[in-house]
Amino acid sequence: MELKTFQKISYGLYLVSSKRESKLNGQIANIVFQITSEPPTIGLSINKQNLTHEFIQESHIFAISILSENTPLEFIGHFGFKSGREIDKFKGINYKLGGTGVPIVLDNSVGYLEAEVINQIDVGTYTIFIGKVGDAQIVADAEPMTYAYYHEVKKGTAPKTAPTYIKEEVKKMDKYVCTVCGYVYDPQAGDLDSGIKPGTPFEKLPDDWVCPVCGAGKDAFKKEE
Ligand code: FE
Repeated sequence: MELKTFQKISYGLYLVSSKRESKLNGQIANIVFQITSEPPTIGLSINKQNLTHEFIQESHIFAISILSENTPLEFIGHFGFKSGREIDKFKGINYKLGGTGVPIVLDNSVGYLEAEVINQIDVGTYTIFIGKVGDAQIVADAEPMTYAYYHEVKKGTAPKTAPTYIKEEVKKMDKYVCTVCGYVYDPQAGDLDSGIKPGTPFEKLPDDWVCPVCGAGKDAFKKEE
């Protein structure tokens, strides 16, 4: 079996949110798909260890914000690599409450779907929630982010963020991997979200530079083998 085949499946990048009583939480997910159009239903696969999973199981409501290509890595890291058990992820975030009371994140959103769970399937480490969509709105006229775009462009290995002219010594510079979240710092691409120009070697990054995805310090990075 060629496991790489799975990487040929296309996905988007979404922010899934839910609530438990007055507590709000959200996380990043890529497994989101429309199932039927009449009535409109949506499928969502969530890891059982996540707090958002607990919230959806208890409240039976969730919202899906479709993230735009312009979403900063820091925003994805805030929702994707931090736990709502430690921080209030909604502090400082622009959101509104939907008709069901579920929080709907509007920052970096192209549009959203609000749903109530009508069924769920236990698939071991994950649960697939099937929701009936009660509301759906376009938020911004922007391109939705695909999972491939997130990995190739946002992580700086694609030509879109790379300079058109790359010096030979730049090509030889080492990439560094974040041991916390797996983000790869590529000197050819720099870290534009943090103001780091393409062509900046890892060693020349300021001491207070942090992983744009999870916020870990430089000492959490190791040279890519
Ligand atoms: Fe990281």
